[in-house]
Amino acid sequence: MRELKIKMTGITKVFSTDEMDTHALRGIDLEIYAGDFVSICGPSGCGKSTLLSLLGLLDMPTNGQYYIENNDVSNLSLAQAAEIRNAKIGFIFQSFNLIDELSVFDNVALPLRYAKQVPTNSELEQRVMQCLEKVDMAHRAKHKPNQLSGGQQQRVAIARALIANPAILLVDEPTGNLDSKNGDAVMDMLMQLNQEGTTLCMVTHDSRYAEMAKRKLHLLDGQIVDSAAVLAEVG
Ligand code: ADP
Ligand code: MG
Repeated sequence: MRELKIKMTGITKVFSTDEMDTHALRGIDLEIYAGDFVSICGPSGCGKSTLLSLLGLLDMPTNGQYYIENNDVSNLSLAQAAEIRNAKIGFIFQSFNLIDELSVFDNVALPLRYAKQVPTNSELEQRVMQCLEKVDMAHRAKHKPNQLSGGQQQRVAIARALIANPAILLVDEPTGNLDSKNGDAVMDMLMQLNQEGTTLCMVTHDSRYAEMAKRKLHLLDGQIVDSAAVLAEVG
């Protein structure tokens, strides 16, 4: 049986202000297994980024249960959430979020320098170069991010996301800031990583890219709906 990486049951998220409550997620049930590539597709405002930030422990749910590798992470302090996030989650965002002052090498190394057990320099070097090779960027290790194309920067961001061997890679609109050629290249890279065993969960409003996943989910008004319901909605 395949290992269960992620399990959510009955997850809700309500953003409350004095004026109103926004129900961003309304009862999400989700299971992601080792080696999965899940895409979550849906229109703007349906809750994609909210779901991803809960999956990534950047925020806590209002209600419901969330487990990462069978550990209950439904209700953590900020410090606990940060520790588990650093160890278990890799993020890829639309904006690459690289640090311009640091070399490609140091950008990728950064998560390991904040890890609970900081590796030796030679371990660190080996691990960073391995990850850069995976995304075909080893030859740019000494460059600064602003000396690279958008597609290359996103590949460096992918290497950084892989560095701590995360349980899952969370991807939010990875091609949003890229032209279609670079976008396609980044998607090819993600599919290749998945074939090599990386577990992926990607949210996107681009149905063409969502189709590349092994398992496609649709989010509508904060709920996962089946594909037939989406087709009915569209037309
Ligand atoms: P998507 O990523 O699918 O475009 P979001 O997850 O960003 O959607 O947003 C879902 C809903 O929650 C939207 O109605 C949005 O306005 C609302 N929302 C998201 N974040 C917040 C927040 N921090 N405070 C209040 N409302 C929010
Ligand atoms: Mg979003």
